[in-house]
Amino acid sequence: MTNRQTIRDRFAVVGNPIGHSLSPVIHAAFAQQKNQTIDYQAVLVELDLFEQWVQQFFEAGGHGLNVTLPFKTRAFALADQASPRAQAAGAANFLMRNEAGSIIADNTDGSGLVTDMTVNAGWPLRDARILILGAGGAVRGVIPALLAEAPQCVFLANRTPERAQQLAEHWTTEAIPVSGGGYREVPAEAWDVIINGTSTGLSNEMPALSSSMAFAPQCRGYDMAYGHAPTPFMMWARAHGVVEVLDGLGMLVEQAAESFFLWRGDYPETTPVVSSLRAASGG
Ligand code: NDP
Repeated sequence: MTNRQTIRDRFAVVGNPIGHSLSPVIHAAFAQQKNQTIDYQAVLVELDLFEQWVQQFFEAGGHGLNVTLPFKTRAFALADQASPRAQAAGAANFLMRNEAGSIIADNTDGSGLVTDMTVNAGWPLRDARILILGAGGAVRGVIPALLAEAPQCVFLANRTPERAQQLAEHWTTEAIPVSGGGYREVPAEAWDVIINGTSTGLSNEMPALSSSMAFAPQCRGYDMAYGHAPTPFMMWARAHGVVEVLDGLGMLVEQAAESFFLWRGDYPETTPVVSSLRAASGG
């Protein structure tokens, strides 16, 4: 292998904290499928050193980065160019340096979520009434991809209602009404899909939804969070008769697959990677 190829093979995921990240394992599995080698590390970057660290990584010949909490908006801001979907989200989970030396930002979270829901799970999103819990960075990142599936309507419910309202005002159209408010303001619609995009699972909590909430007979629930055990949202959804409930492991692997494709030009198989991660976690 030439020195140039070795340099181009350096990748990392950066965040703070980062110790929990599955991304190195996922990218190693993708590379193995393709008979490739990959140097992909998880790196903890100090909060005030992110921009400096990214510049140094690329100046030293690094090829690509995934970016996670809390740096996604800063990753978008530091890039020389951004894809339309990163611009729409105002956040990036993907950076790479192109041949001309420019840093390019993209956001693969939205397509990761939608691929997991529509392709892997076969959930119909067209004409669906979608309730999204949360209005933070993850929700901002996935809204454009969800709206591209032409749902009937979207409601954003958040602990801080103003954040949901602002996001809704930005995205609402005549074709797809998007509205937002607090958890107690969720309309009594029969929701087809409920997505948890809050970080409440980290503290083993569940957003304080009204007990009079309505569910469509085929209602499905998706928690962007993932872990060894079912999350409080997943347990709440099952207790309310939601027919299918998924965690965010599939989304994580799908966003990684698209990153791998953008860097390497070769799309990996995701199903075996999700299965082996679930087996390893006992899930
Ligand atoms: P942010 O910190 O940007 O947003 C957190 C959200 O959770 C906000 O809406 C916040 O409400 C809400 N929240 C936090 N604590 C509480 C609480 N105690 N009660 C009610 N609401 C609360 O985080 P992200 O948006 O980046 O991440 C959200 C989740 O999505 C995380 O669990 C993360 O792991 C997951 N995720 C999964 C991915 C995957 O690939 N599967 C990719 C990206 C994220 P408020 O606005 O009021 O503060």
